[in-house]
Formats: sequence, structure tokens, C-alpha cells
Amino acid sequence: MVGEIIFGYCWHCIAGPEFTGPGPKSPQTTAVWTVPTLKIHEYQAKEILAKYGVAVPRGEVANNLEEASTVARKLFAEGASGVVVKAQIHAGGRGKGGGVKVARTREDAELHAKNILGMTLVTHQTGPAGQKVQRLLIEETANIDRELYLGIVLDRATGKLVFMASQAGGMEIEEVAAKTPEAIFKETIDPAIGFGAWQARKLAFALDLKPTQINAAVTFLQSLYKAFVETDASLVEINPFITTKDDKLFALDAKITFDDNALFRHPAIKALRDTAEEDPLEVEASKYALNYIKLDGSIACMVNGAGLAMATMDIIQYAGGSPANFLDVGGGATQEQIEHAFEILLSDDNVKAIFINIFGGILRVDRLATGVVAAARKLNVQVPIILRLEGTNVEEGRIILKESGLNFQIGATMKEAADLAVAAAKAGA
Ligand code: GDP
Ligand code: MN
Repeated sequence: MVGEIIFGYCWHCIAGPEFTGPGPKSPQTTAVWTVPTLKIHEYQAKEILAKYGVAVPRGEVANNLEEASTVARKLFAEGASGVVVKAQIHAGGRGKGGGVKVARTREDAELHAKNILGMTLVTHQTGPAGQKVQRLLIEETANIDRELYLGIVLDRATGKLVFMASQAGGMEIEEVAAKTPEAIFKETIDPAIGFGAWQARKLAFALDLKPTQINAAVTFLQSLYKAFVETDASLVEINPFITTKDDKLFALDAKITFDDNALFRHPAIKALRDTAEEDPLEVEASKYALNYIKLDGSIACMVNGAGLAMATMDIIQYAGGSPANFLDVGGGATQEQIEHAFEILLSDDNVKAIFINIFGGILRVDRLATGVVAAARKLNVQVPIILRLEGTNVEEGRIILKESGLNFQIGATMKEAADLAVAAAKAGA
């Protein structure tokens, strides 16, 4: 359950399901709202796309050197003129980071596999710590003529899917998007009509494909769209989408992410989750149904409700601090969940203060207070805890905190509590 982080507003809570435009933005809004997504590996994405008739190169995943050797031997035996050894991690930019290597012989393929397996690959998408390579995809090489780009995403401003295509595919697409956005062609898809063949043709022509490639490209794009819709994807990206010297079309790379909220109807996709690729704290949180995303500030937040979590992160920034995480314990958090939430917050070494901001509704304030006191005792929490409490049974909650004898600071308002948290974090830094 890796978060795809979108800056600005909480479309989910503020806006409701009919929402089709950007929500209200406060000037200091820096809060994040996380759209839960499932990421999968390139080899898994290609297996899915192949089922929808999207052309992908022949290849197989390898979990160790022996398997890598077997796959390479097989591809060469079947007539491949070369194989490409590709690191499988949940991040792009592998080519530039040294995670994609072409080999002309089996021996070379084995050498590349040996170098790449187990390496810590650092790319612009992994962060500075990088990601350890635990799997490889070994594929037949393609005789590349052109490297193009295809992508399908949801445009949150219109609430519609957008099919994007660009001639500037390959490893620099982020730069293209930033510097020459006009080089990316877009077709907005009407959900009632679907992706029209005319739109696929328009994009195929915009890619300046040869007349002999147009029909195949239209089919390719339509298959991609079908795969997106039928798997409840949240993003499909083919970069590069290539043409070969003999006029064929292939998805040379493939990225798909899925909407977590739809996974219940796709058990086979749900099973593709690879927790080895995810932040260990986020994996731990997901075991207890806590919506936790790690950030890099010093003030841990424990909040009930995503909208309140957004507001809390905003007000921390406004008070001059920075949030260490997004944590929504949910409306009906149990004492056990609160304890686990504390453990997770405290396993982050950057945390210098904990800000608990609760509006008691279904989760009553007294129950929360009991949970917080129990967790603080059990875990011997040394980090200052600042609370702002409102709602059902707030008086009872305050009494429980006070009578615990533990050192809690309580803010009368959200702003006051945020100021206390920022001061405490600065003092502890
Ligand atoms: P990314 O860097 O993580 O996006 O990984 P890609 O799968 O996109 O690979 C990066 C680059 O490696 C591509 O843009 C291609 O230029 C190159 N590449 C990948 N597969 C092949 C192949 O089969 N043959 C050749 N010649 N180059 C390839
Ligand atoms: Mn790529």
C-alpha cells in the first residue's frame, strides 16, 4: 500500500465522490493526501499487458543467478541475438542507474546478472538510500528504431482519464514534461464513450508512425486502455514504447499501479504485492489497518480522519515545523491499534515530538486517552507528547491523561498545540 503523494488538497474528504475539480487550497497548504496504490514490477506488468494483447518482448523473471542463466540460455537457444538484463525494483530510472544491461552472449548475460542482483540501485525515483535488487527480468533484445512514450493517467482536474503520447520517449521523459510539455500529446477520454478508435489514430499520427505501423499502433493503444480499465489501474506507462527496424511495435518497459480501493475484486493482482519493495514501517502499519505514510520531518502525527490529518500537517508547517508522517488511525481505532501506531511512530529516529490531534466521534476521546496512556507506559515513551482533543467525552479524556501522572502537554486549540509541538521538537533536536 504505497502512497502516491499528491500535494494540495484532500479530494477524498472535502469533495466527495462527485468531485471533479481542485479543492480549496489554503495559502500555506503543504499537506499531502495519499492515494493508496499498489505498485508491481515491470515483469508482472508485462505479463498482465500480454494477456490483453499488448506486444512485449519474450522474457522471464529470474530470482537468482541460476534462474538468470537458465532464462538467458533458453532465449539464445530460441534464436535471440542478444538479451537484456533488467533490475526489477519498484522505481524507474534503472537504465541511468546501471540496472539495465544488454548482453550478446550467455556468459555476458551471467556477468551482468551477477553485477546487478543484490546491488543497491539508486535512481531519481528511489531516493538516496536506493533499493536492493532482488529479481531480474531477462528478455530478448529488441532492434530499436524509435523510443516513444505512452501513458494513461487520471486527470484530477477533469475527473477523466487522459491518454498521453510523445515522440520523446526513453530515459528523459520527466525533463520533456517539465521543459517542453507541448511535446506530449493528450487525448481526454469520455467515460461514457470510452477511448475511441479515432483518438487512438490521432495519437498514432501524432507519434509520426509509418503508414504501415498505424493500424498495429491503434490496436496497441486500445489494448492498453482496455487493460487499464479492466484492472482498475491508476496509472499505465510504457516508456519506451518502441518501433523496431522491421516495423514492429513493443512495450519495452511497463509500469502499472492499481487503485487499492478496487483490489478486492482483483485477488490475482493483489497477490502481486511485493512487500520487500515497500517501506518497512508502511508494511507494518498496513498489518494493523493504519493509514501511515512516512515523511521526513520531526513531528510525528497521530490523527483520526484523513481530512484532519491534512489540516494537522498544514498547521505544523504553519507553526514552523515539519511533519514526520501522515497517520490516520481511522474512526474506530482500538487500543491495540493505538499502541501499534505509537510503536511505528517511535521507530522513526527523526521523530522528536508526537502531536496527537483527535476529534472524538466514533472514536471517543476517553477511549483514545486510555490507549495513549497505556501505550506511553508500555513503550516507555520519552519523546514529548502534545495533544489537542475535542469531541465526545473530551472531559473524561482530559482527566484520564492528567491522572496518569505522565507528562502530556495539552493545547487548547489546534494552533496552540501545533506551537507546543514545534517548540518541543526544536528543543529535542
Ligand atoms: P528505466 O530506465 O527504469 O525506465 O528502464 P527501461 O526499461 O525503460 O530501460 C532503459 C533503457 O534501456 C531504454 O530506454 C532503452 O534505451 C534501453 N533498453 C531496454 N531494453 C532494451 C533492449 O532490448 N535493447 C536495447 N538496445 N536497449 C534496451
Ligand atoms: Mn523506462
